[in-house]
Amino acid sequence: MPYDLVVIGSGPGGYVCAIRAAQLGMKVAVVEKDKTFGGTCLNVGCIPSKALLHASELYEEAGHLFGRMGIKVGQRGLDLAAMMKFKDEGVEGNVKGVAFLFKKNKIDTFQGVGRIVAPGKVEVKPAEGKTETLESKAVVIATGSDVARLPGIDIDEKRVVSSTGALVLDKVPERLLVIGAGVIGLELGSVWRRLGSEVIVVEFLDRILPGMDNEVCRQFQRLLERQGIAFKLSSKVTAVDAAGNRLKATVEPAAGGTAETIAADVVLVAVGRGPFTEGLGLEALGVNRDGKGRVVVDARFATNVPGIYAIGDVIAGPMLAHKAEDEGVAVAEIVAGQAGHVNYDVIPNVVYTYPEIASVGKSEEELKADGIGYAVGKFPFTANGRAKVNLQTEGFVKILADAKTDRVLGVHIVGADAGNMIAEAAVAMEFGAASEDIARTCHAHPTLTEAVKEAALAVGKRSIHM
Ligand SMILES: Cc1cc2nc3c(=O)[nH]c(=O)nc-3n(C[C@H](O)[C@H](O)[C@H](O)COP(=O)(O)OP(=O)(O)OC[C@H]3O[C@@H](n4cnc5c(N)ncnc54)[C@H](O)[C@@H]3O)c2cc1C
Repeated sequence: MPYDLVVIGSGPGGYVCAIRAAQLGMKVAVVEKDKTFGGTCLNVGCIPSKALLHASELYEEAGHLFGRMGIKVGQRGLDLAAMMKFKDEGVEGNVKGVAFLFKKNKIDTFQGVGRIVAPGKVEVKPAEGKTETLESKAVVIATGSDVARLPGIDIDEKRVVSSTGALVLDKVPERLLVIGAGVIGLELGSVWRRLGSEVIVVEFLDRILPGMDNEVCRQFQRLLERQGIAFKLSSKVTAVDAAGNRLKATVEPAAGGTAETIAADVVLVAVGRGPFTEGLGLEALGVNRDGKGRVVVDARFATNVPGIYAIGDVIAGPMLAHKAEDEGVAVAEIVAGQAGHVNYDVIPNVVYTYPEIASVGKSEEELKADGIGYAVGKFPFTANGRAKVNLQTEGFVKILADAKTDRVLGVHIVGADAGNMIAEAAVAMEFGAASEDIARTCHAHPTLTEAVKEAALAVGKRSIHM
């Protein structure tokens, strides 16, 4: 019997789509080329990076904060192999969780490379054994993304690494050169800096975290510099010579000029990711892609070929796991005849460094460019009681509200636990809240979230604790 839906790829987009489709009564199959389910996010992305960020943050605190709080733990030491094992166990638990959910929802799984040979026909080619063909009313492409490379710089995943190699280094590099000051470069740069590396970040643009609110990025850069991360902005790495014991990176001003050589033990190439569509057979089918190789879909995630849909990193939009998940739910509902929808105006974005950076909605620069009048409410964590007592006073909350209607248009947080706090702002924005609504909502004391309330009060120039 043919399937109602075949999903190619088991990352957060694909596996969530399959589960939602099964909940809606569809007969569903998932095709995954890798040995484990969960895609980039669970295997080599969100989950392992957050495990190392968590462990290295505690290591850092043990070295600095514990003493100030009167905690004596003897000589701090690093067992990197054990830390990697802790990370791998976390990945394994999550990956097995997806396998369990597939079983629980009676979803058939096929291990092998999926290729769409015709609308409604997916050929699965396993690493060993027989190729088989699945028939399905609808097919969802959820094949995600792959590391973007730089011309002339070969990634060997040992000394010149992508994020994947940076998650499995077997010793702490004396000096780590990170190419790219985006989220992945800053998160993994933070991990290795905390574990003892000297970290230099080279960025082509004149700022870190392109696309994020400028004020947030400026303050964040200062905080990272204070932690010991060095930045070379408006610069580009044009070559990495791997011939000697140490790598030699050629670094030039972005605008051209005299090059310098920076020696490093490991170079992390973190210049972004590109859509992954290799082997899917899209050319033969005539599935449209854009100039960046992303599968083109309409508002209902449908490609130009009837019955073929696409979601997640392989289509346009922010490359984030929760964006892929929400699209997975939406497309399953659309295929089932319901009205699935994703609100792209309210997708939170988090950088899991210390402090964390979290934002949702528009930045000040975007509002200015769109000609929208706005009011700003800001509140620093130095004035928040819980932050003070926890020694976590770096950063602030900034709320941008429409100057006429007071509707919240953007929220930006630099601070400990910002990634959890941004959920409140996302819910408020989803409900079309005004800053007044947040300001009049009772927030528990003492919590860091009171800074969100105070920033909302500050929009009307009436914060209490400033
Ligand atoms: C180091 C790192 C840290 C990250 N941290 C975060 C974070 O903290 N938060 C966040 O939101 N995002 C994070 N991301 C991004 C996040 O991982 C992606 O946005 C997310 O995984 C995209 O989900 P997806 O389902 O579209 O694709 P993927 O997770 O990439 O999954 C695609 C799957 O499809 C499979 N596949 C591909 N082609 C075929 C084929 N032809 N046949 C069968 N299977 C195929 C692949 O093997 C893979 O398993 C991080 C990424 C990296 C690299």
